[in-house]
Amino acid sequence: CAHPSAKPESAVSPYACQRRTTLNNHNKIFTDALEVLAENLEFCGNQGPSLAFRRAASVLKSLPEALRCLEETQHLPCLGEHCRAIIEEISECGSCSRVEEILNDERYRTMKLFSSVFGVGPKTAENWFCRGLRTFEQVLNEPSIRLNRMQTAGFLFYEDISKPVSRTEASALKIIVEEAVICVNPSATVSITGGFRRGKEFGHDVDFIIKTPEAGQEDTILPAVIERFKSQSILLYSDLQESTFDLRQLPTHRFEAMDHFSKCFLILKLKGEQETGRDWRAVRVDLVAPPLERYAYALLGWSGSTLFERDLRRFARLERGKLLDNHVLYDKATNTFLPANTEEDIFAHLGLEYIEPWQRNA
Ligand code: ATP
Ligand code: MN
Ligand code: MN
Repeated sequence: CAHPSAKPESAVSPYACQRRTTLNNHNKIFTDALEVLAENLEFCGNQGPSLAFRRAASVLKSLPEALRCLEETQHLPCLGEHCRAIIEEISECGSCSRVEEILNDERYRTMKLFSSVFGVGPKTAENWFCRGLRTFEQVLNEPSIRLNRMQTAGFLFYEDISKPVSRTEASALKIIVEEAVICVNPSATVSITGGFRRGKEFGHDVDFIIKTPEAGQEDTILPAVIERFKSQSILLYSDLQESTFDLRQLPTHRFEAMDHFSKCFLILKLKGEQETGRDWRAVRVDLVAPPLERYAYALLGWSGSTLFERDLRRFARLERGKLLDNHVLYDKATNTFLPANTEEDIFAHLGLEYIEPWQRNA
């Protein structure tokens, strides 16, 4: 296959934060397969090897067109022999036998089913699988299983919250959240973040970030908003996490670490005619309320994608000697925290070209 040799300036970066990845994925047949392989490893607790498949998929998502031949992968980062063999097999046979095997595997299918329940992570899913449980019915009828509050809500509203949320529904929720927020604090503002900010048409939840202009307001706003939802009879579930934010704390090295901002994980009632004949559906909603001076970091951290966030931190640490998390950017050379009013400021601190939210679908 004839292809121009890659020019240095067109070389694809191994860091997702140096690639522009829109939702227009020209290599879906390959990335879907690589992501099944990654997910299967995550279900087995093999995070390291799984990340290699996630990175490979992400590189392919950033390409401006479909791969035409295997040679084109030669100059791409994060694509090792194993990934190339999978791409080759899919190009030739239309599918990858290992992926087909995983998709039919009882363990994979059961783990996928169980972890689709709100509040059920891979550990719980594995525990249930190892006890021989295979269906929701078996889990719910197993007397030795005590579901926590989150899992109970997860099963109760499973049908609704396992159904993707549309952009239209997200916009309707924004009006509801905005109304509640302004009611309790007229100077606060609400912005959509997460997948919808990246331009996705559907999401598993709707993420909102709240900006409050005065110090301390971020700690009182969420409890008040939750009370407001309660009084409107639209609150189906809430898990409020009070702020544990400490200004002097250095960024954490572990990516998985949750941030310390005041936030809540909710299930709300969204009114509107449903296929089920009901006049409402349950929707998962996340709210985060950072202190004003951390707003840009929180917005960047909550906008995703997960791999984009991971690579931003890795790039900051390995290429710039700086530590980044959802709260701060810390310069190890000067022992200082770098202030930022906007996401653009943070990219500039890192010496990175600004990447728009819709280009962060790594
Ligand atoms: P989807 O459309 O499936 O919801 P998403 O990209 O919006 O996709 P989320 O799981 O809603 O995925 O997460 C959105 C962003 O918020 C991610 O970047 C994630 O890192 C961040 N995030 C989610 N939960 C937390 C948390 N508890 N603490 C800190 N950050 C979080
Ligand atoms: Mn989301
Ligand atoms: Mn979320």
